[in-house]
Amino acid sequence: MTLDSTDLFGALFDRRVVPVLVPMPAPRPYSYAVPEGMAVEPGSIVQVPLGPRLVVGVVWDGDDDGMVDSKKLKEIEKVFDCPPLTRDMRTFLDWVASYTITPPGLVARMALRAPTAFDPEPMVEALRLTERRPERMTAARERVLATAGDGFSWTRSGLAHAAGVSSGVIDGLAAQGVFETVFMPPPPVVAVPDPDFAAPRLEGVQKEAAADLLAAVEDGKFSVSLIDGVTGSGKTEVYFEAIAATLRAGKQVLILLPEIALTAGFLERFQDRFGAKPAEWHSDLAPRTREKVWRQVTTGQVRVVAGARSALFLPFEELGLIIVDEEHDPAYKQEDRVFYNARDMAVVRGRISAFPVVLVSATPSVESRVNGEVGRYRPIHLPTRFGDAALPHLGVVDMRRHPPERGGFLSPVLLNQVGKAIGRGQQALLFLNRRGYAPLTLCRVCGHRFQCPDCSSWLVEHRFRGQIQCHHCGYSERTPEACPECGTLDHLVACGPGVERIAEEVERHFPEARTIVLSSDLMGVKRLRLELEAIARGEADIVIGTQLVAKGHNFPMMTLVGIVDADLGLANGDPRAAERTFQLLSQVTGRAGRTGLKSLGLLQTYQPQHPVMQAIVSGDSDAFYEREIHERERAVLPPFGRLASIIVSADTRSDAEGHARGLRNAAPRVDGISVLGPAEAPLALIRGRHRFRLLVHGRRNSDMQSFLKAMISSGPKERGSVSVQLDVDPQSF
Ligand code: ADP
Ligand code: ZN
Repeated sequence: MTLDSTDLFGALFDRRVVPVLVPMPAPRPYSYAVPEGMAVEPGSIVQVPLGPRLVVGVVWDGDDDGMVDSKKLKEIEKVFDCPPLTRDMRTFLDWVASYTITPPGLVARMALRAPTAFDPEPMVEALRLTERRPERMTAARERVLATAGDGFSWTRSGLAHAAGVSSGVIDGLAAQGVFETVFMPPPPVVAVPDPDFAAPRLEGVQKEAAADLLAAVEDGKFSVSLIDGVTGSGKTEVYFEAIAATLRAGKQVLILLPEIALTAGFLERFQDRFGAKPAEWHSDLAPRTREKVWRQVTTGQVRVVAGARSALFLPFEELGLIIVDEEHDPAYKQEDRVFYNARDMAVVRGRISAFPVVLVSATPSVESRVNGEVGRYRPIHLPTRFGDAALPHLGVVDMRRHPPERGGFLSPVLLNQVGKAIGRGQQALLFLNRRGYAPLTLCRVCGHRFQCPDCSSWLVEHRFRGQIQCHHCGYSERTPEACPECGTLDHLVACGPGVERIAEEVERHFPEARTIVLSSDLMGVKRLRLELEAIARGEADIVIGTQLVAKGHNFPMMTLVGIVDADLGLANGDPRAAERTFQLLSQVTGRAGRTGLKSLGLLQTYQPQHPVMQAIVSGDSDAFYEREIHERERAVLPPFGRLASIIVSADTRSDAEGHARGLRNAAPRVDGISVLGPAEAPLALIRGRHRFRLLVHGRRNSDMQSFLKAMISSGPKERGSVSVQLDVDPQSF
């Protein structure tokens, strides 16, 4: 046998080959060669060629299996000067990928969401005092010297500002050699929080709760605590203590919030306690800020992040605590590309890195509540509101006995209370979780209903804009004057209420009142923030809003909350409907009476005996949970059983249904796991895509992931327009 000379050469000068995870839906990393002299390690963030493009990837773990001829491999183009992803982070990303059955590259991409942040930020030019003194002293120059005499370096504008002089004064001094130019790292995006800046004096139960929590946090091991307490009981004050303890221990903190972009009040409150704001992380950040935050989180300059669910994938230098506030909130579930629940994945992240996780809610999810009861989580209760703030008095308005006037939706009972509240100079909130003017428009003559051309949903009239819109795909058209079916003019009728229609009714009854409608389609995030602040300052009498107003805001003068349609969320057949409605209504009514003022919450309902209404009005949430938990246990639904949903979509109905059937037939036989469907998905058509759904139901200990993988791999391949989405632990079922 003769050795080919090129093989010999290859064997002698074998290049190092490493696996690199690229942001692609591939099942595993690709192999790349490391150019001579380049230092990479697992976790290094690199740039690699992929087809005609250069992409950002991460050097992954594991030996390259050596099957590929290294001479034919492409080389890593560049290693970024940026801390590598830690082993824990890599383990976490792998874990999320395998739990959600998502290609790992797509999960890793979530950790790299700051395209140009991988190179260090450029140094900033600064000035430092030399030994030399100015030839002639002036009052302005003296101020500059006094300010800069602290030995630190200053930016030109920073120094001018601090000394209260024009930048010309500084330039003059620099020209005389009084200052020299130095380069320093860019300033941090936020100041460093001080755990002892303004510690509150906790009272009675709060003290016990904090001591309980601190025992877990100071232990520094993995644990999950569930703080369960009514709105206004001091849950935030108590978990701030856990944050302080973690900061003292030199570790970073992540606070997850469901609507961070709208909770500016939270940042201020944090600043009052810790003397500095946390860094924000959400999709509305300016790209430059986003990159700075990402970078400074990896280097440890940023100590605390308050963020939306995606903040869970930030590569912290050394994370030591995660708080999940409003842990029951559906906003924690992402249902796009990577289907994950940030609440659950936060617990996983804590377990992998062995640090405590704290879940917080006034109305915990049934899952967390059960975990608390069986001892998997440590329950911490705060049963009463802090100080003299009392919970609002709550009552139902039986709409069968107190119907609204013709064409209206507000009962005289509720209107009467609104009048009283604003008469006292206080505020009223009317809550209806429905945007627009009316959910359905039809022609009185022929019965034609306006439907979205691309979705199986009605078009919603938005009268303020003169449009009818689809809430699923964004399709919109001008509200027509004539019926497109029969041509009759001016015979279109609006059916049912949206917030805009309620505003009209309020206007009729209280023409003098200052009314604000808060709805995401009427204003952007910035405007919303301003409106919320204006309301908190008392610059509105009546607020009409969708679920935007439910979250976290503190309106001191709000003494009446009216739920326009408490039955709304109960109408669909989802087994989670009661839980969701209970959580949402509790949260909304919790907006009232945050200060010492007496307050009232009224629920308009046609089913006053419904367990959800009873639970809210009686304040007996325990009874409600007990019932819900019993129901779930009986039906082996989460957390007593496991669910996954498979949505098959395609351009034609028959392709979608056929593929779904094929998958169903490919399901392996496994004891304890069954497949239901295919049936039309709850929204059978979205954006012109027909959708069918399979529901997979298993026992608590079933291996759902193996089952799903077997089903997908032995079922029909995705072809043509067909696409398949897996959702492990779906929100609705
Ligand atoms: P929750 O998070 O349960 O809704 P908060 O922590 O927001 O409750 O507390 C409600 C209000 O009471 C806040 O304005 C908070 O500053 C105040 N508060 C709670 N506990 C204390 C305390 N021990 N000392 C001073 N103010 C407190
Ligand atoms: Zn549509």
